[in-house]
Amino acid sequence: MQIIDGKQIAQNVKDGLRKQIIEFAEKGMRIPQLVVILVGENPASLTYVRNKEKACEAIGMATKTVRLAEETTQEELLKLIDELNADTAVDGILVQLPLPDHIEERKILNAIDSSKDVDGFHPMNIGKLLIGEQTNIPCTPKGIMRMLESIGYQDLSGKRAVVVGRSNIVGKPIAQLLLAKNATVTIAHSRTAHIEQICQEADIVIAAVGVSKLIKANWIKEGAVVIDVGINRDENGKLCGDVDFEDVKEKVKAISPVPGGVGPMTIAMLLENTLHAYIEHERGIENGRTTI
Ligand code: NDP
Repeated sequence: MQIIDGKQIAQNVKDGLRKQIIEFAEKGMRIPQLVVILVGENPASLTYVRNKEKACEAIGMATKTVRLAEETTQEELLKLIDELNADTAVDGILVQLPLPDHIEERKILNAIDSSKDVDGFHPMNIGKLLIGEQTNIPCTPKGIMRMLESIGYQDLSGKRAVVVGRSNIVGKPIAQLLLAKNATVTIAHSRTAHIEQICQEADIVIAAVGVSKLIKANWIKEGAVVIDVGINRDENGKLCGDVDFEDVKEKVKAISPVPGGVGPMTIAMLLENTLHAYIEHERGIENGRTTI
């Protein structure tokens, strides 16, 4: 059984990004910049945003967090996004979710310039993902694909993959990426009947549910690869995934742990998307056109 060390893979990605940023700086070029917008004081969001700031700093990427009060209006937020869209020193814009109830999440995400949408949630980027064009791919699914590549799962021809969860940020995009690599993909969710049997047929199981240790050994085929996206607390308040790691570990070919699996990969992919957006922006300026 192999543990897929997301922390290490993420570190390798970040080392590569850091080198590239140093090279840009040595050439006297502008430094890539990610701007994070945080509305309100959701405790989990505060932690996520702080982790993103630290990750940017560690690789020498410029970063700014705009902290806004809970009562910020939708119009004020849209105005800020317009300004950031027009700012040529900004490569990536990330609005930390969830937003307060009085703000329409979709309106906000749609307002971000798609070339700066490093989260990959803009309809233009989701559409491009669907037709297989290079785009800002949502960070968590992109990180999962990198983890599969790390164990030699590049081409998934002939493999059956089951994605448990159908959210816009994980379930649906990861299913699309697996399909693009020739896997035969099933998406299961809360209304799926006989979900254990469906999972038992899978060579690859991606768990993106949000239910502590839902997936047990009897859901898993001998020799399957399991990627656990879930971030939950168990009965003792300890961080755990959607997969019962101890129960399934002897049965699998490879598994990602929680913590230290998908989480670090998500942040590394955010940084990578921002660097790619920067390269595209610089290319646009060089060619005498503006990409924004
Ligand atoms: P959502 O709540 O948006 O979606 C959960 C999905 O799981 C839904 O499609 C839901 O089905 C399905 N589901 C819920 N209960 C069951 C069940 N008992 N059996 C089968 N399917 C079920 O969650 P997200 O996709 O945003 O996140 C999933 C998990 O991943 C969470 O723990 C989250 O914290 C974590 N996460 C981790 C990230 C990381 O970087 N590591 C990034 C993003 C998320 P239905 O649609 O029918 O309601």
